[in-house]
Amino acid sequence: MITAALEKGDGKEFVSHAPGYWSNTAPELWNDWKWQLKNRVTTLAQLEKHVELSEVERSGVLLSGDKLALAVTPHFFNLVPRDNPEDPIRRQVIPRIEETWTSPYDMADPCGEDSHMPVPGLVHRYPDRVLFLVTDRCASYCRYCTRSRVVSGVGEQELHTNFEEAFRYLEAHTEVRDVLLSGGDALIFSDDRLDKLLSRSRAIKHIEFLRIGTRVPIFLPQRITPQLCALLAKYHPLWMSVHVNHPRELTIEVKNALERLANAGIPLGNQSVLLSGVNDDLETMKTLVHKLLMCRVRPYYIYQCDLINGSSHLRTSVAKGIEVIEGLRGHTTGYAVPQFVIDAPGGGGKVPINPGYILYHDNEKIVIRNYEGKIFEYPETGNANVQFAPQREYHDEYLYS
Ligand code: SF4
Repeated sequence: MITAALEKGDGKEFVSHAPGYWSNTAPELWNDWKWQLKNRVTTLAQLEKHVELSEVERSGVLLSGDKLALAVTPHFFNLVPRDNPEDPIRRQVIPRIEETWTSPYDMADPCGEDSHMPVPGLVHRYPDRVLFLVTDRCASYCRYCTRSRVVSGVGEQELHTNFEEAFRYLEAHTEVRDVLLSGGDALIFSDDRLDKLLSRSRAIKHIEFLRIGTRVPIFLPQRITPQLCALLAKYHPLWMSVHVNHPRELTIEVKNALERLANAGIPLGNQSVLLSGVNDDLETMKTLVHKLLMCRVRPYYIYQCDLINGSSHLRTSVAKGIEVIEGLRGHTTGYAVPQFVIDAPGGGGKVPINPGYILYHDNEKIVIRNYEGKIFEYPETGNANVQFAPQREYHDEYLYS
């Protein structure tokens, strides 16, 4: 039986939903991350055992199987209510028929990663850092995944990471000081495999900084064992970007897992994707960023949803993201305010998108507005050689109140 806390659904409190739909499962199995992976919901029959699917979802499950696999851990599935197809958690992990539709803007590889891959599985797009795609598997699959062309192993491409060649490339490229392990999700590897991967990366002297991009602490908090935390702590400085979109994802189990990582000295940041019907409103985002701080996670990025094939039903306007930032900046703790970015289509990298706080700027002054819409001038001094391009006009519409 699903808990009353889930039915409340505003996500402001940290609650546990275990064992939820798995009420006959012994706690020692429930808390075993391998049991969670083995017992993922992956078929229409398993879904229908627990929830009442809408026609939109049912057709989505039947028709999206060659795009991105269906898999949801029991832990995360317990956040899915039985009878609301528009639920924000449900929209993230249950396929819908809209996934089979193609909009004119959709792309298979919206961030242009394949064209920046000097070695299979290694993306070198920025000067001093690389993205290392170490696996195509995740604990659960997000329906808007930017890498759905390879992730889960059923899409139109396969990931064939060449680990030996990748490490040789990293050894030869002394400009690379920062390696992000992603995929897929590196934390579904065994401790032993992860240890080998991290120690080989750390053995390269010019690599200063390791990062892991992961949704495992959210989908599978049982994986964040004390042994894993001790292993990760051997490779500092090691940072971690987690991925939480909605405050209800921050359960008691997830909070405890994040605290174990923080106690192992791992700085934690969160990356959210702005998604229609999930988190595209200020109150949801404000609750999320406040809860993240309580879990010792710094809200880092909000991404405009990439133009991935079949994601148009989950995309919002860019204006919505700007509105969210406008409603956070100045109105709450600065540490709680993430940077809103668009990953420029085709491989342009992340571009920060901000509300218009600069109203005018030339070599003599800058005119700015604060979060209340009040206007201020600050003199430009000592910067005569700096070129400002393009200069902004002073628009009346920026003058709030
Ligand atoms: S966890 Fe990340 S890589 Fe995996 S499906 Fe979700 S967005 Fe894609």
